[in-house]
Amino acid sequence: MDERWPRAGEDYPGSVGELRSWFPTDADCLDYLDWLRWPDGFVCPGCGHAGGWWVADGRYKCAGCGSRTSVTAGTLFDRRRTPLTVWFEVVWAFVSGKDGISALSLQRTLEIGSYVTAWAMLHRLRAVLVRPGRGRLTGTVEVDETYIGGEEPGLRGGRARGKKVLVCIAIEVFEPRGFGRCRMQTVTDASAQSLHAFITDHVEPGAHVITDGWTGYQGIERLGYTLERRSQRAAKALGEDPGKLLPGVHRVAALVKRWLLGTHQSSVDPAHLQSYLNEFVFRFNRRRSRARGMLFYGVLQLAVGHEPVRYRQLVADPKPKRVSPRPPTRRGHPPSLDRPLADRPWRAIPSTPVRSDE
Ligand SMILES: [Zn+2]
Repeated sequence: MDERWPRAGEDYPGSVGELRSWFPTDADCLDYLDWLRWPDGFVCPGCGHAGGWWVADGRYKCAGCGSRTSVTAGTLFDRRRTPLTVWFEVVWAFVSGKDGISALSLQRTLEIGSYVTAWAMLHRLRAVLVRPGRGRLTGTVEVDETYIGGEEPGLRGGRARGKKVLVCIAIEVFEPRGFGRCRMQTVTDASAQSLHAFITDHVEPGAHVITDGWTGYQGIERLGYTLERRSQRAAKALGEDPGKLLPGVHRVAALVKRWLLGTHQSSVDPAHLQSYLNEFVFRFNRRRSRARGMLFYGVLQLAVGHEPVRYRQLVADPKPKRVSPRPPTRRGHPPSLDRPLADRPWRAIPSTPVRSDE
């Protein structure tokens, strides 16, 4: 296989116009997923044999074991009830907006009959965003925790319970300025055990870790990191702004809170906060990518490499929820965007002047 990078206009659509001209039918979408899933041709997921034939039922028949596989079997789009043309529009909306899209706007723009169906589609996409085996953060990394979900700032000591969820944040900081990638994860508490586990999961040993004065970070030197603790008290004593001790985490914490309030109007269940954080991190870490189509390509590639996500997994939560989405009803399934061309229906009637006194 050649080592070329995917290109706009060749590997992925570069604009919404291209998206619509490439994928007018569900069959075109399916062919694109086929191309993404098996770049070198069909490989049987059952026996690993390379090679097979298209059969009349629209599946591949393995030349080795004879079993039949559809392009979407065993992927995120397995047993989908939403047509692929609608899925492709959703993925495009998900990656192309600076802030993504809310379930409510999706429901309205794509004729999705129920809010829950739109909600579940977005959650299925969020489920694929964490690439297995992705690298840990390196270099100089700020680490801190904050409460998300409440109105008050997450001050230590104000350990309020309830809707607030404690979230660990790590971000690469560059000299003399600028930030690299970030990671966010919900944690049960700010104990040394939780914080050390977060650091070893998300930060590469050898990194220089900067934290505030919290004792829970002590001891990570024994795990292969260098630790620099910046004390709030010392900053105050020197007349410095303690909020600026960790400018990187301070910045992304403010951004993620604003995003949840703005795009999602804070309608985020604590049980689902992690998947919203994954979406935020995915977009933040690709904030300099000018080609939104490349993100479209990336998300679909992750989706065809991801196992199916069932509705019951999305709502699996042992704790009672404030808003408990009901299972989708048949009404929730949108019509395909694969439609015969309409013959200028507006010409059948005269237009109606819109009167306005304003
Ligand atoms: Zn086989």
